This record gives sequence, structure tokens and C-alpha cells, in this order.
Amino acid sequence: MTTADAGAGAGAGRFAPSPSGDLHLGNLRTALLAWLFARSSGRRFLIRVDDLDRVRSGAEQRQLADLAALGLDWDGTVSHQRDRLDRYHEVVSRLRAAGLVYECFCTRREIQQAASAPHAPLGAYPGTCRQLTRAARAERRAQGRPPALRLRAEVQEFTVRDRLHGKFTGLVDDLVLQRGDGVPAYNLTVVVDDADQGIDQVVRGDDLLPSTPRQAYLAELLELPVPEYAHVPLVVNAEGKRLAKRDGAVTLADQLALGHAPAQVLARLAGSLGLHGATPSALVDGFDPAHLPREAWSFAA
Ligand code: GLU
Repeated sequence: MTTADAGAGAGAGRFAPSPSGDLHLGNLRTALLAWLFARSSGRRFLIRVDDLDRVRSGAEQRQLADLAALGLDWDGTVSHQRDRLDRYHEVVSRLRAAGLVYECFCTRREIQQAASAPHAPLGAYPGTCRQLTRAARAERRAQGRPPALRLRAEVQEFTVRDRLHGKFTGLVDDLVLQRGDGVPAYNLTVVVDDADQGIDQVVRGDDLLPSTPRQAYLAELLELPVPEYAHVPLVVNAEGKRLAKRDGAVTLADQLALGHAPAQVLARLAGSLGLHGATPSALVDGFDPAHLPREAWSFAA
């Protein structure tokens, strides 16, 4: 073990795929990194399926099979967000009882229009429904719009620490806790799950870094521990855009069809991280987050 926090013992890292399709090499590389961060620091490694949204039948089984084929193992059973709805609703009720929740009737379009007004902080919900009177709320409900529930945030920004990005300060707005269709929102579920599951290390793609201050703020508000973060570079295509299925042979199944064995795929992912070995466990000893590339990896199939 080479990382400074070796011996974090009781903690856990995790990979939390959305079962919306097959994992591509970018997702698999992130999973490998999450595994390496966890294992090299003596943590457990958990898999959670973020299945409240965009579920494609059979995708979860294929995702888990691909992780296993690459030699990534995990502790305990795989958990599912759909089994935890009562818990999320309980947390929303607690925030509601504390006066920290309001109903929002805005459509996506209304939010986009308001957010593009001059001086609106980029990407922030402008607070349109924050001060609605009881009568105005009743009127909107009567129009048949089911409200989303938003957090009444008391700060505008929050700072997190990230193993690769250092101190990162980002926007906190009145984030959605529960969608209009009653489904708990990702920014809430991720915070509650990570805390409940003893996850103290979150390794994921750096496209999620901008949401992280919101999540850490919400964790603090709920008096939950804020995990250590490492937002890792994505894999991009020849045009520098985030890798997607249409970019060619990007899934493990595609790679196998080309005649590359799982160990070769793993070795290629490792090579892109400056590591050498064909099994995850062969990479643990030489793993040092300080030496990871900070740039996206450009993959040409
Ligand atoms: N399920 C999310 C995704 O696949 C990842 C959530 C996370 O790692 O926090 O994008």
C-alpha cells in the first residue's frame, strides 16, 4: 500500500452505475480507479445500482458481469436504490419538518428561461417558487402541476476537497430533492446512500465535480459525514468529446468481439493511467493517486 491514508480500515469506496445500458471503457476505467483507490487504502469496495431512473432490462447483469470479467471484485451484496425509497422519503420529511423544503412548480423550460437572464448564476435555479404564498401554491396545484420539492439552501456556494482537484468551490442552489413524479432526486439519494453505507471515499468521473459542493452541503445539513472525493478524468473520443456508444468498439463485448481478452482490455486501461499489469490486484501496489494523469484519455477504437 502506498497511499497516505492506508489503514482507513472501516471505510468503503464504491462504484454506482446507472443501469441504462452497457458500461463503456470510460465507465470501466472509472470503476477500475474506484476499486484501486479503495483497495490501496484498505477500504471495502461496494457496488450500488442507481436504478431510480433510466433502467434498461438486462443492463445491470451485463454491467456486473463486465466488472467481474475485468477482475474487479466487491464486498457484500449489490445494493439498489429502488429498495430504499422509504429512507429517502423519510429524509425529505425531516428536512420539510425543519422548514428547509419548498414546492416548485416550474417547468424545465421556465427554469432555462429564468436561468439565462443576465446576472443569473450559471446553472443555478433562480428561486422562482421560493416565496410562493399558500394561495399561489394552491392555484398552481389546481392547474394539475405536481410540484417538485426543493431544498431551501442557506448558502450560495460550498467548498469541497478533492484528491485530484484540491480545494474546489462551487455553486449551491435550491436543488431538487424530489422530482414532480415523486421520485427522489440523485443529489439527495447519493448523499443518503453514501452515508448509510459507510462510504467515506467517492471516486467518480470529473463531470460530476460541479454537483459535489451541493451534495457535500446537503450532507452537512443532514449531519452526515462528508466523504473524501476523487473526481477522475473522463475518456474522450477523437474529437475530445465524452466517449459514447457511437464512438465504435467501446464496450467490453465490442472489445471481446475484436479478439481482445478481458486481461488485454484491463492492461490497456491500466496503461492509460500510467500503470502496468493485467489484473487489478497486480496494480494495487504501484497505485499512487498523486501520479495519475490529470487529463482526459483520448480513446481511438
Ligand atoms: N449513477 C451515477 C452515474 O452513473 C454516478 C453517481 C455517482 O458516482 O455519484 O452517473
